[in-house]
Amino acid sequence: MIQLYIPLGFLGVIYREIKQSLTDLEKMFALLEKEREIADTPGAQPLVLPQRPGDSRQDALLPGLVHAASHADVTFDHVDFAYDPARPILRDISFHIPAGKTVAVVGPSGSGKSTLARLLYRFYDVQGGQIRIAGQDIRTVTQASVRQAIGIVPQDTVLFNDTVEYNIAYGRPGASRAEVEQAAKAARIHGFISVTPLGYGTMVGERGLKLSGGEKQRVAIARTLLKDPPILIFDEATSALDSANERAIQAELQTAAHNKTTLVIAHRLSTVVDAHEILVMDAGRIVERGTHAELLTLGERYAAMWNLQQE
Ligand code: ATP
Repeated sequence: MIQLYIPLGFLGVIYREIKQSLTDLEKMFALLEKEREIADTPGAQPLVLPQRPGDSRQDALLPGLVHAASHADVTFDHVDFAYDPARPILRDISFHIPAGKTVAVVGPSGSGKSTLARLLYRFYDVQGGQIRIAGQDIRTVTQASVRQAIGIVPQDTVLFNDTVEYNIAYGRPGASRAEVEQAAKAARIHGFISVTPLGYGTMVGERGLKLSGGEKQRVAIARTLLKDPPILIFDEATSALDSANERAIQAELQTAAHNKTTLVIAHRLSTVVDAHEILVMDAGRIVERGTHAELLTLGERYAAMWNLQQE
């Protein structure tokens, strides 16, 4: 009994760490089904996503890949949330991401930015208000369908102790080598992989090839390109990449975000300039909102953050 108990407890710790780092390891969730804090409501149906009007997938991110041309808007409607009932974290959060647009969230550490992303991926249920994808409350549809509709590029990508190919193809089980290479090229990691002696067969992880933070993010971008979901969450790395690398990753993220409904948790304001709307958070509330130009004109917190980053 003890022997059974200890590993489950250990898995619970891993699960919580994964939730914290927002990694989309559906496989891990399947393993840890017992640890789930939220469950599908009886009879829950999959999320229904509308087709993009007039879309024949001519503009698919990876030409040749046939994916469902669905799209979805995202709504946070008066959302309240606390991890611990005694300590409210999000209060009365409302915003809308129209299908194909980007909303960026900025604000000090601990203000609740990543929590928004965790709620959208339905790691937790809201305590007040509603989160809707394409008009459907995410508590009423299957979790699997919500997670299928969302791609996450987390701050720290967890890689499996397996080949580079496996790690990229994880975004779309059953993807061919050609598709994996296409995704790797679009994420600008192909060159790096192809010069290793075993190429896509190279093992990564603890006992294999060690990847830098930027390289890992590129693997996550390649995964997401293969998955080609209608909704994206980017949790921008706080760790400093060198500026050339940072600009390159930003360009690749923009490719991945093309036509996607995107929530960006931004640590560098240069990422958010083109967003449809920028939300400035503080202590769990939205304290300022608008476009980059509007917020600069307002001349308050965002403008102060912008001026500070320009120095
Ligand atoms: P950062 O920019 O540092 O990533 P953030 O704005 O994304 O910060 P969150 O990670 O959303 O902030 O955290 C918001 C608050 O919720 C913080 O006070 C944090 O301590 C708390 N918090 C986060 N995860 C948990 C958890 N699993 N259990 C309890 N409290 C948590």
